[in-house]
Amino acid sequence: MKILTIAEQKNNVLSNISFESIAAAKSLGGDICSALLGSDTSGMSTAMAAKGTKVFAFTHPDLKYFQDEAHAKIIKGLIDREKPDVVIGSATFYGKALIARLAAMCGGGMASDCTGLSLESDMVTALRPSYGGNVFFTVQSNDAAPFFLTLRPKVVAEAGDESGGEVVEETIDESLLSCKAKVTDHVSESGGKVSLTEADIVVAGGRGIRAAENFKLIEEMAESVGAAVGASRAIVDAGWVQYSHQIGQTGKTVNPKLYIAIGVSGAIQHLVGMRSSKIIVAINRDKDAPVFNIATYGIVGDLFEIAPALTKKFKEALG
Ligand SMILES: Cc1cc2nc3c(=O)[nH]c(=O)nc-3n(C[C@H](O)[C@H](O)[C@H](O)COP(=O)(O)OP(=O)(O)OC[C@H]3O[C@@H](n4cnc5c(N)ncnc54)[C@H](O)[C@@H]3O)c2cc1C
Repeated sequence: MKILTIAEQKNNVLSNISFESIAAAKSLGGDICSALLGSDTSGMSTAMAAKGTKVFAFTHPDLKYFQDEAHAKIIKGLIDREKPDVVIGSATFYGKALIARLAAMCGGGMASDCTGLSLESDMVTALRPSYGGNVFFTVQSNDAAPFFLTLRPKVVAEAGDESGGEVVEETIDESLLSCKAKVTDHVSESGGKVSLTEADIVVAGGRGIRAAENFKLIEEMAESVGAAVGASRAIVDAGWVQYSHQIGQTGKTVNPKLYIAIGVSGAIQHLVGMRSSKIIVAINRDKDAPVFNIATYGIVGDLFEIAPALTKKFKEALG
């Protein structure tokens, strides 16, 4: 079996999911290779090759920003040449767009947002959540074309170092770079702080904070523990926080080691985006709030007393 993983990078810095995809491929066995596209791939390709994979590096100034049309055309050429049985990308904004487009272009089967990959009777089997994480499906593909998968960040540990990797510098057919739309810049709303989908700790605020200016309670706690900042849709819709922080059905899915929900009721649409967090701490003054049904630890009380007190303790403990 041959497996192609697709690296994800931003500003020529690899996302952790690039290494997690390699680890997932290794767990299936077989020949592993990876596609890497960017405007300066040298450092990234070496880091990936150190994991034991054969890296096909496509370097061009026009590949500085992710553009699914150009990326898909280039990777389609690689798939036609290398003929992988399985293609693994990331279940992120980038990967979901790219892998779905590639699956359509190649006519392959697809399973998105996978939380586990295994071999069952020699067939690649993907585990994926549905109905807000209440049901898990196993998905296999009988197609001769590659089986396309997107892997949810942080469900697999990053691949360890391994010998045998190499970097192959690819030449790019310039005609593949011409797209209907051109991305000219990326502006980070969160000011380049911790990425929500990759964070080990997320501190999220909900309508219980009462007003936009109180969101600083959430930001201060997040900063004290090096966490990313999340939000419920209620406070995004109210205009208190930018949409990029929204967690849930119509926002981001996160999978941190620790999720601290402050003044969040725990509506199902919020829970689907964070319920797979390893440890969930909920702070809510209503002891019957649904968030306590999934919380590992619950604190019943006023967030305006508890959140600052916890932040103070975190700062004292962590310096
Ligand atoms: C199609 C659809 C998609 C949706 N997608 C999303 C989504 O992606 N993400 C999302 O979050 N929601 C989503 N929603 C909205 C969701 O249904 C809820 O309305 C929303 O999550 C509620 O946000 P909240 O918990 O902040 O607010 P509330 O439900 O109003 O909860 C506020 C909580 O704060 C507590 N509280 C109040 N004051 C204090 C205090 N002083 N101290 C401690 N606790 C206090 C209250 O007890 C309450 O539990 C979606 C809804 C629909 C219909």
